[in-house]
Amino acid sequence: MIKDFSRLQTTQYDLVVVGGGIHGATLAYEAARAGYKVALLEKGDFSGSTSANSLKIVHGGIRYLQHGDFKRMRESIVSRRRMMVLAPHLVKPLSCLMPTYGHGIKGRETMRLAFAIYDLIAFDRNQGLAAENHLPCGSSISREEVKWVVPGIVEKGLSGGAVWYDAIALDTERLVLEYLKEAVRYGAHVANYAEVAEVEMAGGWVAAVMVRDLQTDREMRVGCRAVVNAAGPWLENLTGRGGGSGVQLWATALNIVVKKRLFEKYAVGLEGYTDFTDKDALIKRGKRLFFFVPWQDRYTMIGTTYTQYHGAADNFSLTLQEVEKVLEDINKIYQHGRLNVEDVTFFHAGLLPIKEADASKADSVQLDKSSMIIEHGLLDGRNGLFSIKGVKYTTAPVIAEKMVKILAMDRWLGQRAAGIYQALPPRNLDFGPAITQLGGQYEAMRAYLVTRYGTSWRDVFAFFVQRPLNEGESFWLLEDPPLLVAEVLYFIYEEMAATLADIVFRRTNLAAAECPTREVLARIAGFMGGELDWSAEEQKRQIEKVEQVFAILIH
Ligand SMILES: Cc1cc2nc3c(=O)[nH]c(=O)nc-3n(C[C@H](O)[C@H](O)[C@H](O)COP(=O)(O)OP(=O)(O)OC[C@H]3O[C@@H](n4cnc5c(N)ncnc54)[C@H](O)[C@@H]3O)c2cc1C
Repeated sequence: MIKDFSRLQTTQYDLVVVGGGIHGATLAYEAARAGYKVALLEKGDFSGSTSANSLKIVHGGIRYLQHGDFKRMRESIVSRRRMMVLAPHLVKPLSCLMPTYGHGIKGRETMRLAFAIYDLIAFDRNQGLAAENHLPCGSSISREEVKWVVPGIVEKGLSGGAVWYDAIALDTERLVLEYLKEAVRYGAHVANYAEVAEVEMAGGWVAAVMVRDLQTDREMRVGCRAVVNAAGPWLENLTGRGGGSGVQLWATALNIVVKKRLFEKYAVGLEGYTDFTDKDALIKRGKRLFFFVPWQDRYTMIGTTYTQYHGAADNFSLTLQEVEKVLEDINKIYQHGRLNVEDVTFFHAGLLPIKEADASKADSVQLDKSSMIIEHGLLDGRNGLFSIKGVKYTTAPVIAEKMVKILAMDRWLGQRAAGIYQALPPRNLDFGPAITQLGGQYEAMRAYLVTRYGTSWRDVFAFFVQRPLNEGESFWLLEDPPLLVAEVLYFIYEEMAATLADIVFRRTNLAAAECPTREVLARIAGFMGGELDWSAEEQKRQIEKVEQVFAILIH
């Protein structure tokens, strides 16, 4: 991926996608694959906003049984499978457990029936997946086993546990990059730190977007026939209130990350203790579910809570009090965990669209259930302008496919011959000398790269080959946690990483669970400084910017 503003200025695009979160990235991929000339512009870093802040569960929609919403369930199943096929190294099976109580709606028998229906609907969930990524059918476990998995669980009425399989995105940010890189291979042009300031209309049709390069402050015009606004919480900034369909309400969604491995084998769903009525559900459980998801080796992600948010997206931030409040709730739900604020090492917080909320109760939010595509041309005469209001990371591929079908209508872009996939130009590199130089370490390095980059591992290894080591130099920039010099070069020159934060949050998982040490940050900043010509002062500023993200946890 090469950022090239002069190319953006001189190309006439069919489609400009605004926003490089999961909805923008999947759309750029689907649209480029369908043969459209696509540009995607992101004002921050790719996946730098809501898409980096999810609980990372790629849901198969089992919960929608409660709503009798089979359409939404199928969309989730299909989307989950697509993500698992596109990036099998990043989206892995996740076993989930929900303790069952009594013999009614929360009982084991009801869950068994639910799984039987779900497994029928999800009959093709494993199509095209490698055997190790197959998702088994749902099942149940005994009361005794549940007590072993969830020590200290409330035992009164406990009848066993329902077990089902979803998927977890091990790195939501790299998954967005995978979609973008595939889009680029189909001819899309993408740029980060490029803000779309305005959509230019001519005679009732989209004609161009005005773009600001936030790294140089340069402005430019990018010609196009259609614009899809996938700007997440900034949706209304570009197209106006509610995209012309009424005032949009928002909620803060929050997870916390604790440095405690609470449950080993499963992501565990436990009921909240306050009443909550999901107005859309046919079968009402009366409480919200909290998920405790094992994360990396030593951590647990817990969430998600929702509270009303009334400010502007740009002013969104979190306070320690909000984190403490969630912690208090979690300690009531699972007392045995005995979590305290020192255990909290990180948080995921973002804004999600909601349908309604009771003004007198901060946590009474009813989430928007399905993502929505807004056709502004039909609503207010701005032909060629569309918005995607996305509510789930999981379903982005299906929403992208729907959007492309709309674009293909004759009244908008019309159909095209399918895009042509172009693998990266072969580098004609001879890996032989590097393999010889690595000797016995080659296999370990290859395995490490495959885990992180899947089939793209050779592209990263190429940077090792291109920069032979000098006497006494190590190919590891860091050994614990591991990071290769070649990876950092790859991030800078192939993945548009421009800041230290880009690398520790969104190219690697180094800061995904807690703040890396000063030493680790200084080492990466020092190396990046050499490549990007940063002064000592600039390196310090970059380190501070990363540390600031964790500052609210300092008490
Ligand atoms: C705490 C939490 C937990 C969640 N858990 C899950 C889960 O487990 N599973 C699941 O499926 N979903 C989950 N979600 C929901 C999911 O994360 C979101 O629905 C999804 O990430 C939204 O993606 P998006 O692309 O629409 O928005 P974003 O990721 O916010 O992307 C929008 C992008 O547009 C950019 N942008 C804005 N304005 C402009 C402009 N003018 N020019 C250029 N760029 C612009 C922004 O910088 C941003 O990067 C969770 C959400 C939260 C907050």
